[in-house]
Amino acid sequence: MKRQFIAGATCPECGQMDKIQRVIDGDRQWMECVACGATKDLDAKPPETTDALAQPVTLQPQKK
Ligand SMILES: [Zn+2]
Repeated sequence: MKRQFIAGATCPECGQMDKIQRVIDGDRQWMECVACGATKDLDAKPPETTDALAQPVTLQPQKK
């Protein structure tokens, strides 16, 4: 099992920063807060992308 802190991550439960670890165990990985013990499953999605959902989408007017 491998654990690594995620710099700058804020716990959604207790709101503390830099308490979130990414835990990798074989094929599974999840986030765990060392302050309050909250866990969150990660479905192969790196936590860095949680705040990057606003991906640029190019909307093109439909020509008819
Ligand atoms: Zn927490």
